[in-house]
Amino acid sequence: MTIKLLSEDVASRIAAGEVVERPASVVKELVENSLDAGATRVDVETSKGGTALIRVRDNGSGILSHEVELAFKRHATSKLERATDLEHIATLGFRGEALSSVASVSRMTCITHHASEATGTQLRLEGGTVVHRSATGRPPGTELIVEDLFYNVPVRRKFLKTERTERRHIDAFMTRYAIAYPDTAFTVVHDGRRTVNTPGTGDVREVLLSVYGPDLGGSLLEIPAALTLDLEIQIRGFVGPTTIHRANRGYVTLFINGRWIEDLRLSYAIIQAYHTLLPVKRYPIAFVMVEMPPEDVDVNVHPTKAEVRFRDGDSVFRAIQRTVRATVVAQAPTTATWSLDQTGSPTVTGGAQTSPSATDSQTQQNRARLAALRPSQSHIRFPPAKSDPTNLGTPVTGSTTPGDAGAGVPDAIPVQPARAQSDQQLPPLRIVGQVATMFIVAEGPEGLYLIDQHAAHERVLYEQMLSNATTGQVPSQPLLEPQVVSLPADEADRLEEALPALHKLGLETEVFGTNTFLVRAVPAPLKQIAPADLLADVAAAAGESSPIRAELEKIVIQHICKRAAVKAGQVLSTEEMTRLIHDLEATENPRTCPHGRPTVVQISTETLARQFGRDGAA
Ligand code: ADP
Ligand code: MG
Repeated sequence: MTIKLLSEDVASRIAAGEVVERPASVVKELVENSLDAGATRVDVETSKGGTALIRVRDNGSGILSHEVELAFKRHATSKLERATDLEHIATLGFRGEALSSVASVSRMTCITHHASEATGTQLRLEGGTVVHRSATGRPPGTELIVEDLFYNVPVRRKFLKTERTERRHIDAFMTRYAIAYPDTAFTVVHDGRRTVNTPGTGDVREVLLSVYGPDLGGSLLEIPAALTLDLEIQIRGFVGPTTIHRANRGYVTLFINGRWIEDLRLSYAIIQAYHTLLPVKRYPIAFVMVEMPPEDVDVNVHPTKAEVRFRDGDSVFRAIQRTVRATVVAQAPTTATWSLDQTGSPTVTGGAQTSPSATDSQTQQNRARLAALRPSQSHIRFPPAKSDPTNLGTPVTGSTTPGDAGAGVPDAIPVQPARAQSDQQLPPLRIVGQVATMFIVAEGPEGLYLIDQHAAHERVLYEQMLSNATTGQVPSQPLLEPQVVSLPADEADRLEEALPALHKLGLETEVFGTNTFLVRAVPAPLKQIAPADLLADVAAAAGESSPIRAELEKIVIQHICKRAAVKAGQVLSTEEMTRLIHDLEATENPRTCPHGRPTVVQISTETLARQFGRDGAA
């Protein structure tokens, strides 16, 4: 084999592949250039998910006429002069690769006008080669038009996902930049449809309201400036309250010195900050911006600049974790009471402002919740029983107030997921009470049965919803007043795609405007969930599911049942427990929750006797 140098053409297309992976990477590079050029207004337009056209127009500095060709040369940049400049980069770009990379894999037009010159310049390139140049008029600023992306790299074109997916990536990126750069007004229009539109007034809350809608945008908590202890590492941003959570970590966004980065460890610092404050397997929404000395961060790790290295990663981790936790804990409702709002949804009110140290423990939180949740105030409603529930044995009467949460079953006792009486079925059970506001204690033919109330209710709801969906008989509960729900652009897009499947589930929702939906009716078993939460869950589920419809329905049902099921920490009356066990018995798979965890654990009478040293003896 002979070794040959790659031709300039092939080499530049390979290099381009590192920077330009998909339409969203083109948008990212062009928008970053606009921001570096000091633009206060950036308009993005695409057609066919960006594969046919991407147009980015700004009112930034513009490019000097005699430098336009140079800007399209590889490693040509106005942002770095000396190698030492690499140590304190304050601009988003610096590698001088983007324009040349994008140009080499598309047909590109650049129309630019530097404010100091009388006329502007128009340059047209195909596959990186200049094919046309002329003088032109336009207000100061730059417009870059990218057509037929990857027309000369068919492999890459083949690997692109659907137009929808590409649009979503662009929206997800633009939404984040709009929040991080509130002084700049952004618009995004896909095939004539506007998905992002921010005012550029410098007010981050206004941007949040515009991209996330009034519900979510209005409820995010601002990290107070006073929480920054380390003068070198400033943390700003907005984080969700503990009542708002999502099924995956995709809603955690990190900016370091104005640059969106993806860093698993630092994302984990944010997730950690919510430790014990969110249900298991649920993740926060957070938007955290770190400002620190540029010389302490190395952004020159990867061509896309999304990866960074820190001189002292631990202190960044700590600073983020502490500020976020303090923000969330200080504003979390700790002595909440539950009540019903006009729509019949439970709402939490009366959250007290407490100092972080006083609430920084799960036990204290649980106590506060217990105190607040008298049985009379709980609004858990179970679906009507299908037959007479009295065949469950005689429920004990008397107090259902939980005992000390610590007084559980000692570790030494061997427990096992309850064995099947006849295959999967549950034996008749007699309710004894509730432990730790988490488990129902019951007696059955083989001894003691502990039922996880959340897992059991999840199973009941799941099977009801699923059978409703397959028979097409969906009990739908119309809302007294249809509710308007806004979602971020990428979520809205996913939801829109899932709408037909949702109708089958009794969730009557229609598109109401840009990223906005009108909810008319919800599935009856889920009527206590706020419509906004329901739609957010569905959008998240739709993002995870395979394209197969039946799968989508299943995943959506799993997600919403998880939220709808009674939580640990809710006091249940004997009647409610009886109803739950009864409904659980009627399910096809009463012994596991939809995620496969056990719902029932059994301790035999013999094991109990042995623990008391009574084996054999009377
Ligand atoms: P980099 O951003 O790393 O410098 P690029 O290839 O993205 O490299 O851009 C090359 C150069 O072109 C930039 O350094 C800048 O001088 C100029 N440029 C690109 N886009 C714009 C724009 N929108 N407004 C003004 N100048 C621009
Ligand atoms: Mg650049």
